[in-house]
Amino acid sequence: MTAVAFKRCSQCGREFDEAFFRRNLVLDASSTRHRHPICIGCEQSARDEQKRKDRWPAKIRDVTRRHAAKHGLSVQILTDDYGWVFDRMLHEAQHVYANGCQYCGEPFAAMGHGLTDLTLDIFDPVLPPYYPANIRWVCATCNREKSRTPPNQWAAKLACWAKWEHQPAKPHWSDIVQQQKLNLI
Ligand SMILES: [Zn+2]
Ligand SMILES: [Zn+2]
Repeated sequence: MTAVAFKRCSQCGREFDEAFFRRNLVLDASSTRHRHPICIGCEQSARDEQKRKDRWPAKIRDVTRRHAAKHGLSVQILTDDYGWVFDRMLHEAQHVYANGCQYCGEPFAAMGHGLTDLTLDIFDPVLPPYYPANIRWVCATCNREKSRTPPNQWAAKLACWAKWEHQPAKPHWSDIVQQQKLNLI
């Protein structure tokens, strides 16, 4: 019976079977350092964390590329002449993601599809795509709903939604008559 060799992970400090540590590419069995100092679990979680961090830059680049193509402009022109500056877009997109859609106010965390729910709307599609003056970070649902609605019509619609949500519904006339009858009894 061979004894199980244990090794301590230099990151999480826990001891695992040696098999839970990847082998170094250059094998030197005589060395005590022939396996990675960090356990497979810690290596995996570091990779996941990196992927999570990379999602945001990828999102901004992707959205910029798609809009550039849509407008028949290069990414460079969109950046230099229309203000689509990466750092600023990243900062504002993250702010909106944390605080809710710029149209409906719905928190993105509640929508359930991660960064896919965050989209960019050209507020007035007739005007040039200047960032940020003519650009809004909004949820995919609002973006679909707005589609190419003229901005003033869209603004009026949003105001109606706000009213619908914040004012109590008025009772129907038949309910009022019923209530009056009850009061007479
Ligand atoms: Zn570990
Ligand atoms: Zn929305």
